[in-house]
Amino acid sequence: MAFVQYPTAIQKDRHTVMNLAQRLAVRDSVTHLLEESPTLEAAARGALQTVCESLTWEWGALWVVSPGADVLVCIETWHAPAATFPRFEEACRRSTFESGVGLPGRVWADGRPAWIPDIVHDVNFPRAAVAAGEGLHAAFGFPILLGGDVLGAMEFFSREIAQPDADLLQMLGSIGSQIGQFLERRRAEKDRERLAREKSALLESTSEGIYGMDLAGRCTFINPAGAALLGYEPADLLGKNMHATMHHSRPDGSPYMEEECPIDRDMRAGKGTRVDGEVLWRRDGTPFPAGYSSSPIWVDGHIDGAVVTLTDITLRKGVEEVQTRAKEAAEDANRAKSDFLARMSHEIRTPMNAIIGMADLLWETSLNAEQREYVRIFRKAGSQLLDLINDILDLSKVESGHLALESLDFDLGEVLDKTLEMMAIRAHEKGLELALRIAPDVPAALVGDPARLRQVLINLIGNAVKFTEKGEVIVRVDRAPGEDGAGALQFSVFDTGIGIPDEARELIFAPYTQVDTTTTRKFGGTGLGLTISRRVVELMQGRIWAESRVGSGSTFYFTARFALGSKLVLSAPAGPMDLASLKILVVDDNATNRMILRDMLARWGAVVTEADGGERGLAELRRAHLAGAAYSLVLLDRRMPDVDGFQVAEHIHQDPALAETIILMLTSDNRAGDVARGRALGVAAYLVKPLKRSELFEAIQEARAGAAPASERTVAHPDAVSDGSPPLRILLAEDSPDNVLLIQSYLKASGWRADVAGNGEIAVRTFIAGTYDLVLMDVQMPVMDGYAAARKIREWEAEHLATRVPILALTAHALPEEVRKSLAAGCTAHLTKPIRKATLLRAIEEHATGVVHVDASLAELVPGFLDNRRTDLDAIASAVARGDYDNVRILGHNMRGSGTGYGFTRITELGASLEQAAGRREAGEIVARAAELTRYLDGLHVKYE
Ligand code: ADP
Repeated sequence: MAFVQYPTAIQKDRHTVMNLAQRLAVRDSVTHLLEESPTLEAAARGALQTVCESLTWEWGALWVVSPGADVLVCIETWHAPAATFPRFEEACRRSTFESGVGLPGRVWADGRPAWIPDIVHDVNFPRAAVAAGEGLHAAFGFPILLGGDVLGAMEFFSREIAQPDADLLQMLGSIGSQIGQFLERRRAEKDRERLAREKSALLESTSEGIYGMDLAGRCTFINPAGAALLGYEPADLLGKNMHATMHHSRPDGSPYMEEECPIDRDMRAGKGTRVDGEVLWRRDGTPFPAGYSSSPIWVDGHIDGAVVTLTDITLRKGVEEVQTRAKEAAEDANRAKSDFLARMSHEIRTPMNAIIGMADLLWETSLNAEQREYVRIFRKAGSQLLDLINDILDLSKVESGHLALESLDFDLGEVLDKTLEMMAIRAHEKGLELALRIAPDVPAALVGDPARLRQVLINLIGNAVKFTEKGEVIVRVDRAPGEDGAGALQFSVFDTGIGIPDEARELIFAPYTQVDTTTTRKFGGTGLGLTISRRVVELMQGRIWAESRVGSGSTFYFTARFALGSKLVLSAPAGPMDLASLKILVVDDNATNRMILRDMLARWGAVVTEADGGERGLAELRRAHLAGAAYSLVLLDRRMPDVDGFQVAEHIHQDPALAETIILMLTSDNRAGDVARGRALGVAAYLVKPLKRSELFEAIQEARAGAAPASERTVAHPDAVSDGSPPLRILLAEDSPDNVLLIQSYLKASGWRADVAGNGEIAVRTFIAGTYDLVLMDVQMPVMDGYAAARKIREWEAEHLATRVPILALTAHALPEEVRKSLAAGCTAHLTKPIRKATLLRAIEEHATGVVHVDASLAELVPGFLDNRRTDLDAIASAVARGDYDNVRILGHNMRGSGTGYGFTRITELGASLEQAAGRREAGEIVARAAELTRYLDGLHVKYE
């Protein structure tokens, strides 16, 4: 390291050597100085001067740690009168030192004094060049300490080179501590001053009145706002009893005793208090509405008084009044709006009823397909509009407070049965199970508003059906859990539908909210149903909520309170409601349905056993018979996966051991033909789910009494055809719901009804299980197509030596290939889509009943034509016997050509089949077709038109 030597420097120790007395004198004078100094700057300057003068050193500086605590900054310097060091002074004022850097930084880092005999030779002295330039050499510094913390550093310089003096440094160290304490004291004082300033600024500037009081209730301070509120100057109030000044009387002028005053009372109890809207009195004797709050002041664990805040609430009172008036006005307006809506909805409803009614009438008339479509849309839009109007009317009624609940005696079971019966139509259209379960402890006789209860249920069940494609909808009624009184009930509607996202579960109860808000919504609706339901439920002192998982379904719950009725309003059957000890077997694959039936029957005292399928049911019946405890009655579900209800009934019917058993058949669809079939199998009654309890009871009673069996309790159908012959039983195998609807609507007018099978497999099953006069078979279907299904049906017929039922293939194109394929599969004939109503009806009539409508102008020719066909049949028989296929082909060809001309399409079809079979030299097929032609000719009824 290179040292710059300053030859002028003189090494002299004399200035630093001090005796003890001198050192103590220096310390004392600094102490004195610090006590006397009014400001930090004065104290610092005094300390620097004292130290410099007593040591005869020329320059000193005070450094303090910056507020950011990262560097030291120079805040004060002192120099001997005869010596100035302007450039060094300037360098100090401009510099800052980090911990460990330069003399001040070193003192800060070590927390100890440091001595440099000659700065010129010091390696850690950034200001060395400037200092040396001004002739400075020796330097020392010491820390200003408070506790263990360094608050700053003092440094001193001499023009002479001087060696360290340990005693001196120690004394200076103690001066550093004194200065530290002084600094801290000054800081605390400053903080106090600032706080006091801030406090008084706060008190002066706040618009709230604030005053302090002692235990005797005398004012110890009050801010200008507080004094002004009361009409005083602050000085006027100091020492005055505040209660007597401002709180002496009540609004009516009667005295308000201090003991009663919450401020005084609560202060003494060591509590705060808040009062809104009392009257305080001004100096001029006028009162004003005020709010106040007080908090006790604690000093050393004792209550010393309280601080009270006052506000004049005249203005707020005024605002509140205005708000109340505005609210009343808004309520009036809302009522007026609701009244208007109610009136308008009513006005609109009257013509709407006419529109809808006329549309319904129009629908019943004969319309072509296009007109029918128009009318369908127009009926649908009409009923949607009516729903909307009804909902709006209801909502406005509830909102305007016009909805008052009735208080009527009603039978809960009856209301539920009727409601479910109504909803069952929609549910069954979608193939959903709809079930009801009423817990045994739910009272039947209630007092309340059955119409409103039904409205809520219809809305919830309607939604459940609307948002469910597959599965079931179950309605339950239980006593409301955790609520007193037998009339507090909880209803729930469970579905296996699309579910509701969590974030929407609350929102859907608000008006006009729907989960799916796209304009192309899949499910219609107004978004008002749940809002209305909620209001109605609230009127019934209940609440409504939903639980749901997206994709698995929802359950809507609501509670409601009813009074208990004294009389049971029942349209229930006459006769004792007693099935005591009647042994009943319930055979149903659906567990919910079984549970519901068991509940109902058990209520009437029956002994109920369940079987979850046909086979098990039969086994149980037989077992019980052998055990000598036969069942009196069996409730059979019609549709079950393994052995269905009819098959079970058939077995029971045929088994002499079981023949005594009364059979009741349950179904969730309503098929034509089932009743007749059931009757043949000894079914006593045929009931449609959801079951009405009263109906079930009635049916059981009637069946037991041997009353008219197999009375159909369901909707009556105009089953008979116009000429009085029995209605045709048709099986329609078709997967497209649109076509099903179309064909059903075609058939409706004829009085024939079709059972529908959604694919070939179902069609085969249904065909085998039933008795049909004709099958309409769509050829393109999922799972099993029409060709395969026709083939299977033919196989089954052959095996069981059954008569061949006509199968009419429904094809999209009349391609020869398709025709050939359908005939080859065993279809009797084919019809090409789109099928006209008249064509379909004629084809059915011709194939199922042999009735053919022929133009009257051909009346003379037809008998001859038909006779010739019988002759053809003989010729075919002998040609086949000879193996003369050519002749058969020619005969077939001629038949094909002439049949349609006379109106006998069936003869044309059979002619074509014979021609083809002969081409393939298939003798068996030729014989089969010829036999078909014979049957056709035998059964033919020609009607001339
Ligand atoms: P709307 O059915 O006429 O739209 P609601 O107030 O009855 O009006 O229902 C509001 C919305 O709540 C429905 O649009 C639907 O998004 C949702 N919602 C109600 N019930 C169900 C349910 N069972 N399953 C799924 N979503 C439902």
